[in-house]
Amino acid sequence: MIAYLEPLKLLIYGERAIPGTASSGFGGFCDCGGMMTQKTWHQNGNLKILVSECENCWKIEALVFDGTDVIGREEVRDFKRNDLKEFLSVLLSSTELEAVMNKLEGERYNYSAYNRAKKKLENIGLNLEGLISEIIF
Ligand SMILES: [Zn+2]
Repeated sequence: MIAYLEPLKLLIYGERAIPGTASSGFGGFCDCGGMMTQKTWHQNGNLKILVSECENCWKIEALVFDGTDVIGREEVRDFKRNDLKEFLSVLLSSTELEAVMNKLEGERYNYSAYNRAKKKLENIGLNLEGLISEIIF
């Protein structure tokens, strides 16, 4: 899954969270014929990835650049603040997600499941505390 975490401007690409630099301006044309607006640029090794959003259908795409050549165009699943729990549910087991949610709500939680969740996110370069501080319901 290629995912975009809107509140953190992070692109999850190749099992790695890549921070982005905010941008604006023309981002190409969408399949629907609409104009796309640049959101963020992400550096992935030698490649640059542009995340842009269609102003007509709100689809989000990632364009992969090698220099000035576009070598890939991929649809991106967008997660806004109120979707971040869903994002975690894709990555984590139900026990891990429950531990994270319990901790977030100030309840007793399964410490080892929470730590496993934290480790899983760290492995792709995500900070669990930073992520859950952005969650809204
Ligand atoms: Zn579109």
